[in-house]
Amino acid sequence: MSFHPTKLRANVLSTATLSAALMLAAFPAVAQNTDPRQNWGLQPLGPNVPPLEYKAAEKKRSLQTRFKSVPVNGEKLTLAQNNRAQATIVVPAGSSSKDSSRVAAAVLQEAWQKISGAKLPIVAEDKLSATAAAGTLISLGETELAKKAGISAADLEADGYRLQTQGKTLFIVGNDQSKGMAVNGTRSGAYALLERHFGYRWLWPGADGEVFERQIQLTLSPLNEQDEPALPVRGMRNYYPTAREPHSQITNGLTRLNREVPTLAGKAKDSILWFDAMSLGRSTVYSYGHAFNDMWEQYGKTNPEYFALQPNGSRDQELAKSAHRSRLDVSNEELIQTIAANAIRTFREEPNRQSVSISPNDGGPAGFCMCEVCRRLDPPNAPKITLNLGDGHRGAEYVSLTDRYVTFYGKIAEIVQKEFPDRILGSYAYSAYRTPPLYAKLPSNVLVGFVGLSYFNEEQRQDNLRDWDAWTRAANRLLLRPNALIAGHGLPAFYARKLGADVKHCYETGMIATDFDSVMHNWAGQGINYYVLAKLLWDPSQDVDALIKDYNDKGFGKASPTIQRYFNALEELTNQAAAPDKASANEEDAISSSAFYSSLYKLTQHYTPDKLDNLQALINQAKTEAGGDEAVLKRIVFLEQGLRYAKAEIEPLRLFMEFRTDKPDNKNPEKRQHMLKLLQERQNVFQDIYDNHFYAQNVLYPLHRETSMWRGYGWNPGNEK
Ligand SMILES: [Zn+2]
Repeated sequence: MSFHPTKLRANVLSTATLSAALMLAAFPAVAQNTDPRQNWGLQPLGPNVPPLEYKAAEKKRSLQTRFKSVPVNGEKLTLAQNNRAQATIVVPAGSSSKDSSRVAAAVLQEAWQKISGAKLPIVAEDKLSATAAAGTLISLGETELAKKAGISAADLEADGYRLQTQGKTLFIVGNDQSKGMAVNGTRSGAYALLERHFGYRWLWPGADGEVFERQIQLTLSPLNEQDEPALPVRGMRNYYPTAREPHSQITNGLTRLNREVPTLAGKAKDSILWFDAMSLGRSTVYSYGHAFNDMWEQYGKTNPEYFALQPNGSRDQELAKSAHRSRLDVSNEELIQTIAANAIRTFREEPNRQSVSISPNDGGPAGFCMCEVCRRLDPPNAPKITLNLGDGHRGAEYVSLTDRYVTFYGKIAEIVQKEFPDRILGSYAYSAYRTPPLYAKLPSNVLVGFVGLSYFNEEQRQDNLRDWDAWTRAANRLLLRPNALIAGHGLPAFYARKLGADVKHCYETGMIATDFDSVMHNWAGQGINYYVLAKLLWDPSQDVDALIKDYNDKGFGKASPTIQRYFNALEELTNQAAAPDKASANEEDAISSSAFYSSLYKLTQHYTPDKLDNLQALINQAKTEAGGDEAVLKRIVFLEQGLRYAKAEIEPLRLFMEFRTDKPDNKNPEKRQHMLKLLQERQNVFQDIYDNHFYAQNVLYPLHRETSMWRGYGWNPGNEK
């Protein structure tokens, strides 16, 4: 679905006040035409309220760390010495391997073994020998020892933790329960202990991304600390499969790379560990995804009037085999009653359930409802957008549909609220209903997932930030759900500072959760952005430059200043590529439509060979400075893979763009041969990255996205039909 919110939103066309305009807006009974085609139209018939004027969002809370530390005097605890364990890890009696305390024990045991060479035993509390009990202990979770010492985390937010020493025992207790759901407070505490007191870092998944220094003696000074997450939902999606079957995008990419599907499962199996180490996750479950996938199947035959009126007068959602993406007639009162009744039934059946989604389906070929009743909800002064409305109406000019969708969400929520006042209905602000509403109001039990932000299109980012500010007044509960991490075609980019500023702003103005789609596993080129983001989701008060400096110092040692210069140069390049120009495309569109090509074109204009060479020179200098430090050298080589990918990818793309814009050249056999040669070289680079530098770069996603691009030129490496 294509949509382009216009930039001209600030001009107030009408002098009427909002309330006067609403009073003047008449809602006469709709005369039912006998020919349904007569009810279909492209004229918005909603109230003539003025466009929104930009007003900065109010700050609802301040950026303040929840971390607390009280100085403690006393003797150091010795955990290991000369490759020998000097302490015992204690877990609650009867705990299972999935409990946060057990997971924390395994994390600590492994990390401390890497640092010291000693493997500390893990013992259930009821099996602890008298000798061990008299020695140094690390007590995890709600042990009897912790209860006796009066140390608990029950007063902290879910996922929060407390680290406290008493005598020769270190207690790590976390809040591991949230509304009947097991969460990971104790595990968060273990990772935080390793990071703050043992210098451990997880810069990216895999062995090279783990930073630690060997120590002959493993000791810990007495401490008393606590921390808890700022957000109950710290969502960054993992693009690689963990428990699920791989996505068709991935299997498609693997075919084109000539690699077997099971090889990915093996390589990506530990990708989730990085997410754990960053304490990402959730202690509250919000449902807000596309909700009506089976609607046509369920009601298509019995209640065709529930579905969107199409230009041909039908309400058929099988027009383009898009039944699972059916569009609804959201002004149909009976449909609203049905959806509300379904939500109420779900809440009755699942007492622990916090929310039910009422979000529209994702883009499909069948168009939004353009019946007269729906159009009476669309204010003519809403931002202009283009819609694909099916047969003969692709790219139709219309206005944003937000007010009609907010009306729909609100009506359902009001019905549900009567029986379940504390439960939440989840919705999206996305696609044709992304811009803020002009007049429609939401009850407080609606959560809005705002989809926006791009770091390859500054104009769009600024637009989205203005929209966010308006949404903070329209909705009580806002979730930030960007597709930002997908943009940029996997090319190296540094936007951690902008991203950091945006997360802080959204947090201060009321964001209650995030869902970033997705960590694409371009760790060489974009990993530092993922890292800074993950850190801020736990504690958005953290200083972004300090996080970046820590990343560089820990990961790159003596080469840190040069790596910092590398990232600065990359930031400049990213900002140039994001600056407005003629080829500027909506990045959101680029993910799902033909605007993909214009975004690629723009990238080829900025990621030029000389700029990539400048970046390479800094990498070469960093390698020299790293001297003989093998671990640092490996990490620099890892970063370098992002440039290697960019060089291999950009040149064939540039030729492709020339062919596209300069049609007669299509026939130039020499140029074509040259492009095929570059594609073969690219294939070799991609295979090497996949085989030998797996986490550096996801080469599968670009291969998938380019599926139709190269075939016309006779390039079909996976021998697809
Ligand atoms: Zn309608």
